[in-house]
Amino acid sequence: LKVGQYVAPLVETQCPFCSVQCKMTISTETEALAGIVRTVYKAEGKPNAASQGRLCIKGMNAHQHATHPGRLTQPLMRKGGRLVPVPWEEALDAVASSFSSLLSTQGPDGIGIYGGGSLSNETAYLLGKFARVAIGTRYIDYNGRFCMSAAASAGSKVFGVDRGLTCRLADIPLARCIVLAGTNIAECQPTLMPYFHQAKENGAFIIVIDPRATPTAAIADLHLQIRPGTDAVLANAMLKVIVDEGLVNEEFIRKRTNGYDQLLTHLNELDLNEAAALCGIEADMIQQAARAFGSVETGIVFTARGVEQQIDGHMAVRALLNLVLATGKIGREGCGYGAITGQGNGQGGREHGQKADQLPGYRSIENEEDRAYVASVWGVDPSSLPGKGVSAYEMMELVHQGGIQALFVMGSNPIVSNPNVRLVEDALKKLDLLVVADMFLTETARLADVVLPVTSYLENTGTMTNLEGRVLLREAVRLAPGEARDDWSILCQIAARLNKGGYFAYKDAEDIFEELRFASRGGLADYYGITYDRLRREEGVYWPCPATDKAGMDMMFRESFALSDRRAVFTVVESWGAGEELSEEYPLTLTNGRVLTHYLTGAQTRRSPSLAAREIENYVEIHPRTARRWYIRDGEWVEITSQRGSFTVRSRIRPNIREDTIFVPMHWGGAQNVNQATRPDLDPFCRMPGFKTAAVHIRPLRLA
Ligand code: SF4
Repeated sequence: LKVGQYVAPLVETQCPFCSVQCKMTISTETEALAGIVRTVYKAEGKPNAASQGRLCIKGMNAHQHATHPGRLTQPLMRKGGRLVPVPWEEALDAVASSFSSLLSTQGPDGIGIYGGGSLSNETAYLLGKFARVAIGTRYIDYNGRFCMSAAASAGSKVFGVDRGLTCRLADIPLARCIVLAGTNIAECQPTLMPYFHQAKENGAFIIVIDPRATPTAAIADLHLQIRPGTDAVLANAMLKVIVDEGLVNEEFIRKRTNGYDQLLTHLNELDLNEAAALCGIEADMIQQAARAFGSVETGIVFTARGVEQQIDGHMAVRALLNLVLATGKIGREGCGYGAITGQGNGQGGREHGQKADQLPGYRSIENEEDRAYVASVWGVDPSSLPGKGVSAYEMMELVHQGGIQALFVMGSNPIVSNPNVRLVEDALKKLDLLVVADMFLTETARLADVVLPVTSYLENTGTMTNLEGRVLLREAVRLAPGEARDDWSILCQIAARLNKGGYFAYKDAEDIFEELRFASRGGLADYYGITYDRLRREEGVYWPCPATDKAGMDMMFRESFALSDRRAVFTVVESWGAGEELSEEYPLTLTNGRVLTHYLTGAQTRRSPSLAAREIENYVEIHPRTARRWYIRDGEWVEITSQRGSFTVRSRIRPNIREDTIFVPMHWGGAQNVNQATRPDLDPFCRMPGFKTAAVHIRPLRLA
């Protein structure tokens, strides 16, 4: 076999993009056309329990970035101001020696580690161990902070454990009412849509909550086109109607929950018309939605970033969970709650220790018992483990203030994905050392001192946990191009140079997974019963799975919740909207999100010709009346400005968005990056930035 070659003409793999993790086959054929020999790829969905053989356009073309000529194939180091190729030994020695000298001058907290939600479970686990054992720093966090932190923290508080989907995908068609709050599944997780179509055919009433009439809203029976940042207000108002009209499940509330009476007192003060005015919709629409959800036997509430990327995202999710609990729609067929994860391993990536406050298996770094257990698995003294660090954006602020001197970034592109990127760029430029491990010379990698080339989804082996909590094995099917190495092996090689190699002596990804099984054993996200052999035999295994001879738990909370008294808790949610205050200077609300053909910061999908061709540049979606008011013509370049900064995109005039709101996708960096303008204000509970509500103004550039 030659480098870059597939191990067989037909290989089985798994899409690297969203949280469905569709299985697929890729076949390759060599074809000669006009004297030019080229390889032709064909990606096809492979039936499995989650995706049922479907693939979306991203999955069909994922091989295009993996085989892109721009893949990094050699380490790069900055010399004389330029990044130049160097041997691996030189790059790794330089990183280790800089880390060593910082460890002796600044101590371990001078070094920050920044991970990603697309890394495999094995790499995410190892990155957490690398931070705590090889470096000893408290500063580790990851881009999943921007993805799942609000829903994850809300699920933990209300149910005692956070698993994205508390039921199975197969429960969707059984639900008689489905609430899709701030989630555009048709573009973000397209292969899930048939589950919702099937539910509709079975008679389900579908409620979509979104400031835009997205392709997902096209299937809605009721579209609540609310003002961004008012999801919690809406959920409170729906709950009031459900309570006032006697649609609650009193037996469930009495037997399985706490806190209902306090909630009732709070709801007494709520005025439906006032809430409707804040949400920017009619009060009778709120009534319709509440009656539709409250009056049926089965139902599921889904949330995603539209609800969660708010400065009250944590509480907004808890307000929606009140609806689930009040109507007893959890722990049985056709019922539940689902946080639709965005990233490929958004679920697994948040379970095994790359969060600032977390150890593997959802253990807490602040709990003495948890520290002692994980330290025993790692063979270190519990007192040597550092304490809790700070969230991803706060880490950038710390870099900016000079509190962190070196940053190691793996599987993330923070200069595009953070809010307020002007500060982030300034911060990264101040570092003594920036190391980036990536497949491409991303916007962040371009600023690095050392760039380490890593393998793609086709070339590395590891497990990913999809949005259902189903652990899936994806095995390498192609040899790495050039000298690219697996992320986990890079961590081991740096650890060895820091004299910590004994803690990182793994022969392959399975070896790491075996340790992860023990590290997560007895934790809330228990993987002990899951093995590679089992994953090869079965269509994935749900966690928690404490025994190798037992199935994992597909339906959560059938009999009890994971809090100490086994009951779930209602939450009194005080929210009157989370939007940034509008003014004469900044009169519009900017919200952001994804488009069908791109993923995250576009580092991969913008390099896939078939995907890039469909959305070649960034744009702003603006209502025709708003466009007229600001003298904007369709298709022209406009500048959008907030208190933080400006960016430039092309206008797309569409009637499907609220007049007071504009929408910009999040997949482009530089001058087209929506995050030049987004808010760095953080949710006090989960430290999620308020990406979805920035006060801005817009102007056509021709009038400059
Ligand atoms: Fe499946 Fe998501 Fe990949 Fe599309 S992007 S093929 S829905 S995993």
